[in-house]
Parts: sequence; C-alpha cells; structure tokens
Amino acid sequence: MATINDNYLKLKAGYLFPEIGRRVNAFAAANPDAPIIRLGIGDVTEPLPEACRTAMIKAVEDMGDRSTFKGYGPEQGYGWLREAIATHDFQARGCDISADEIFVSDGSKCDCGNILDIFGNNNTIAVTDPVYPVYVDTNVMAGHTGEASDRGEYGGLIYLPISAENHFTAEIPSQKVDLIYLCFPNNPTGATATREHLADWVNYARANGSIIFFDAAYEAFITDPSLPHSIYEIEGARECAIEFRSFSKNAGFTGTRCALTVVPKTLKGKAADGSDVELWGLWNRRQSTKFNGVSYIVQRGAEAVYSPAGKAQTRALIDFYMENARIIREQLTSAGIQVYGGVNAPYVWVKTPHGLSSWDFFDKLLHTCNVVGTPGSGFGAAGEGYFRISAFNSRDNVNEAMRRIVEKFKS
Ligand SMILES: *Cc1c(COP(=O)(O)O)cnc(C)c1O
Repeated sequence: MATINDNYLKLKAGYLFPEIGRRVNAFAAANPDAPIIRLGIGDVTEPLPEACRTAMIKAVEDMGDRSTFKGYGPEQGYGWLREAIATHDFQARGCDISADEIFVSDGSKCDCGNILDIFGNNNTIAVTDPVYPVYVDTNVMAGHTGEASDRGEYGGLIYLPISAENHFTAEIPSQKVDLIYLCFPNNPTGATATREHLADWVNYARANGSIIFFDAAYEAFITDPSLPHSIYEIEGARECAIEFRSFSKNAGFTGTRCALTVVPKTLKGKAADGSDVELWGLWNRRQSTKFNGVSYIVQRGAEAVYSPAGKAQTRALIDFYMENARIIREQLTSAGIQVYGGVNAPYVWVKTPHGLSSWDFFDKLLHTCNVVGTPGSGFGAAGEGYFRISAFNSRDNVNEAMRRIVEKFKS
C-alpha cells in the first residue's frame, strides 16, 4: 500500500474555523429563529470595484476573438501587470523593486506555503504567537516541526509571543533563526510595525543570514502616513526579505484570486556545498515547473486596480471597512471593553472582559448577542484571553451587532 506524508497526522484536529462552525451550527439548530451575525471570518463582503469588473468583461471578449485570444500566459504573470505593480506599489513608495522581481499568483495563502519548496529542511523557523495559522501548518506539513504540545505548540518552532504587554510587536529573538514570518498590518491583532521596528528586524536578519517572509496582505488599510507599507521601504531589506501581497483584501478578490510575491534578485541562501545561491532563480524555476499562471481575465481585473478609477474605487472600499472598524472600536469601548487594532487594519482585537477565556467569551457572545467572532486562542496559545472581530461586513450588520453587545455589556 502507498504510504502517506505522516506529517499531516501531526496537524491538530480541532482546527479553529471548523470548531466555530460546529458551535454556531449547534446553537442555530437549537435556536432556529436566532438572528445570527457573523463577524468572525476574514472574508470580504462588498462587491468587486466596477473598474475591475469592466476590465474583466473586456478580457472575456478578448478571449472570444482569434486575434486577441490568449492561451498559456507567462508563469510569472503578464509584463503589463508586473510593471503596474512595480510602479504603483513599490517604486511610488521609493522601493527599489523591478517588474521581473514580481511573481503574480493565485493567492498569498498558496505562496506562503509554496515558498517552503525552495528552502531546506533544517532551518530554524520563528513565528509570532498569535499567528495566521497557514504559516505554522505549512511547516508542519513540510516536516519542519515535531509534534504539537498540549498548548498546541509544535516542537522545533520558535514562538515569539505578542500581547498588549509588548504592544503586539514581537521582541527580536536572542538566538539565531533562519526564517521569520512577519505580518503587518497584522492578522489577527490589527497591530502595525513602525519603520524602526522593521529596521530592527532587517538588521537582525542581515546579521544572522536570515530570510524574513513579510506578509503585507493588509497594507492598503494603513491610515497612519508614518507607517511603512512594504518591507522594502527599509534599507537593506532587498538582502533579506520576501514580500507577499494580495488583491484579496484591498480589492475584494478573495473569490476572484490574484496575488503576488516579491523575490529580489539580491537574495541568497546557502547550498549544501556551502556556496551562495540566488533565491530568485529557484523561485522562478519552482513557479515555471509547478504553476501555469493566473487567468488572463483575472490579471486584467487586477491591472484595473491601478487605473485612476480603480484606485478611487478600492480606496472607497477600504474606507468603508475602516468605518466599520471605527464603529466597532467606538461601540465596544463605550461598553467598557478594551480594544486594540482596527485603526490601520480591518481587525479589532478585543481583550475579553471579566477575565473570560477566548472560547467562553465566544460562547457568551453567541448565546446572549447571537454574534459570532473568532477566539484569539485559535491563533496560538498567547492569543488566549483575546478575541478577533472583523470589520468585513455590511454596515447594517456591524451596527446591529454592536447595538446588541453594548446593550449586554454596558453596566
Ligand atoms: C487574507 C490573507 C491573505 C491573502 O490570502 P489570499 O490567498 O491571497 O486570498 C494573506 N495573508 C493573511 C494574513 C491574510 O489574512
């Protein structure tokens, strides 16, 4: 019989979102009339910008005409999209990133996992705690960890705790690590990194020969002009960082699928014989072999994000969610609940009141307010005592959910 990848058996069974689904379904079955509002899942709710839709409709027409029809495109993405990304997302912010360092893909989630293909199996890996679960689980699957402990921490991974005590920014490790995952603005905490904090990481990485995986999926939600949007705004980052970006959250592409990964040509890793090897060539080879590019239609939709109309419409979309975040922050605060995040990110990170555990607060909100959020402990042991509320929802749902919570918790 064929054997399996046993690493999959190390994955913790009761994964966060299935467990939330189980509890919500059980409650809904027992209370069929309860008007449940879901502020739990990190998915967008508002429709695609018109500029993107118009561009995709035009692209469908291109596919219907022999003279403009497209077959396989470049595995790295079409040049016109890579140029638009390099110009608007990077060069406009002073980042020295060229179009051929940008690899267009069908998602940052996939890229965060796939990137491990080009790295060795004996790297020391650091993640923050709490963390986006994809970073951890893809390393478990790749065999980079031991078993999970009772606290849900995998052997071999270095966890860097983040909490209110350290302003949700991890301390730079005292030991040497090879790969570090950073996500700013952060999912789930909504925290941001200052230039100084990122510069500390870049300096650490360069001193230790480490590679930073920088997830900037939420950069468009930054409102504070002093905060960096890209790690390449930091001097020296071209020598130590890979950046992941996505059209999912800024332009509502979660169901349309388009993202990008930046691999600067100046990045190097060590081969077994001790020589330095350029990572760009490895990633280019990986993508050319295992990926056949994003649909032409979707890439035209993504390109439209950078048109004047597209920029205005995505801005309006982000502003809409950020107004939701402001309402959530203001209302919860008025109910005496301590909140973090939600200023430069679409997530509000709530300190559970009365010392409730994350899951006890989840049950309480579900049963007394019929509101669903995400228990912080599901993102890591250090998320215990916290709770994530997402601003991705309709205004009516946000207003109604906050009305119920304020009514219950205001004493
Ligand atoms: C939503 C999200 C992404 C984007 O994933 P896609 O696969 O591009 O939709 C990446 N990182 C984090 C932390 C996210 O929350």
